[in-house]
Amino acid sequence: MVSKGIPEPHGGNLINRVLDSSSRERILNDDDILRIHISDDLASDVGNIADGIFSPLEGFMNYDDLIHVLREGRLANGLAWTIPILLDADYSTAVRMKDAREVLLVSNNVIALMHVEDHFRYDKMDIARSVYQTGDTSHPGVAKTLAMKDMFVHGKIDLVSRIVGKEGLMRYRLTPEESRKIMVERGWKSVVGFQTRNIPHLAHEMLQKSVLNFFDALFINPLIGRKKSGDFKDEVIIKAYEVLVDNYYPKDRVLFATLHTEMRYAGPKEAIHHAIMRKNLGCTHFIVGRDHAGVGSFYHPFAAQEIFKDYPDLGIEPVFFPVFFYCKRCMGIVSERMCPHPIDYRLELSGTRLRKMINEGERPSELLMRPEVVDVIMQHNDPFVP
Ligand SMILES: [Zn+2]
Repeated sequence: MVSKGIPEPHGGNLINRVLDSSSRERILNDDDILRIHISDDLASDVGNIADGIFSPLEGFMNYDDLIHVLREGRLANGLAWTIPILLDADYSTAVRMKDAREVLLVSNNVIALMHVEDHFRYDKMDIARSVYQTGDTSHPGVAKTLAMKDMFVHGKIDLVSRIVGKEGLMRYRLTPEESRKIMVERGWKSVVGFQTRNIPHLAHEMLQKSVLNFFDALFINPLIGRKKSGDFKDEVIIKAYEVLVDNYYPKDRVLFATLHTEMRYAGPKEAIHHAIMRKNLGCTHFIVGRDHAGVGSFYHPFAAQEIFKDYPDLGIEPVFFPVFFYCKRCMGIVSERMCPHPIDYRLELSGTRLRKMINEGERPSELLMRPEVVDVIMQHNDPFVP
């Protein structure tokens, strides 16, 4: 494989909008600044903007960028970008924010200073149809978009304080500056990013490890943040990967870090967004599997791979993977490209089946899941998102 080296950040510059300590003190001691409470999802967006995970964004999107993202899958300047990053507010709050010009965004703690430029309205159903390619309210992303408040407020942000997350969940978060430094120090020229929102099955492990045959390193980067009911809880996913990497991965060729952002289930458009974030974190390649970031049957299984054809300028290479599974005749984990046997020989573990087994105290087979991972799940009182 040709060594490409760690890529430039998306748009050319790694955004850093974290305030220095003297500005921070001045702002925190100013009681006159308007304080606006924001959701955990928005707080994650703020952190990702400030650290450059969303480079080149420096704040919440304006109208011009929004319409370009919706219509062309690109920012107004033409740079690839598929997911709107919006701060919603009700009308009176939006007016107060605009009048105040400088606003403190507050989550559990004060997290950012926002330099408000303006506010605008936009048809939320139009946003939903463009991003999720459906107006069906049973799609979690559509439902969330339609539930947004009526106005969007835009402007740059400066991070004042780090988000105080749930106990232990932030310990593996890396900023692009940190992850890039590690990749350079280890001399990696090709790094493959792996997105996940799931507990690792043996099939995931074999898929991930197969890239180590051709590339320098693997960047395992589970998504931590709001997920749908029935998904595994964040702390379970982190602990499961901790024991897996510790016991089964070559340490000098694997980097594990968490990415804190909500799962949007936007299928192909989210696949591009996921790739851009990993590019900013330093990956040269990004694994796109079957039905990447999909939900239910809203997207064609290969739509998330097809969309990359529209983005030859993305600056990170997608690596397309088929589904991996255990085949009783092959006697091991194989992919659909490797195995000639009928589907009846496959041993598979759907999310629904796994939940049922765990709720009934039954251990999944070691052919499908590492015992250490099973232990992590079994030792947790309630491993699923309610
Ligand atoms: Zn087979």
